[in-house]
Amino acid sequence: MHVRTLTGGLAAACLMSLALAGGQAAAAPHTPKAAPAARVLTYDAGGSAEFRSAVDRGAAIWNESVDAVELRPAAAGQRANIRVLADNGWPRALPGTLGSGTVYIGRQAVDEGYDTVRISAHELGHILGLPDRKPGPCTSLMSGSTAGTACTNPYPNSAEKAQVERNFGGALTGRAPAARAEAIVD
Ligand SMILES: [Zn+2]
Repeated sequence: MHVRTLTGGLAAACLMSLALAGGQAAAAPHTPKAAPAARVLTYDAGGSAEFRSAVDRGAAIWNESVDAVELRPAAAGQRANIRVLADNGWPRALPGTLGSGTVYIGRQAVDEGYDTVRISAHELGHILGLPDRKPGPCTSLMSGSTAGTACTNPYPNSAEKAQVERNFGGALTGRAPAARAEAIVD
C-alpha cells in the first residue's frame, strides 16, 4: 500500500519533469550538466523520388523531438548511415546497427491513403531503434498503419521519444547495440 503510493508519486514526478523539459523546447539547456553532443546520423533520400520532402520532414520531426540524435542529409558523395528509397511495396525498414539501415517508403500504403510524413517518421523511428507498437492510437507514431488512414500524426509520443534518448544516450559511451537483420514491415 505504502509502496504503491510512493510509486505513483514517482511516476507523477517523472511525468512532470517530462512536461517541463518539453515546454522548454530549444530555448536553453534544461540540465545544469553539459548535455552530450547529439549523435549525427546522415541520411540519403536521393532515391526517395516523390517522397523526398516527406522524408526531410520526417527527419526534421525527429530532430525537433529528441536531443540525443540528429538526422542530417548526407553530403554529395558521402556514404550515409541511412538510405531512403521509394518503391511499390509496403513501407518497411531494414535496420542495421543502431542508427543505420535502409528505409522503403512504399507506394502501396500511400495509395491506400496513409500519410507520407507519418510513414517517413515511423520508418526512421525503426532505424532509431523503436519497435512497432501495434495496435495503437494515432498519438503513437509506432502504431503505424493500425491507427488508420485518417491518422496523420507524424510525432513520436513521450515514451517513444524517451526510448530514442535512451538508445542513443548510451551510444556515446561506446556501448555497442546488437545488429538487427530482420526487416520491419510497416
Ligand atoms: Zn513499423
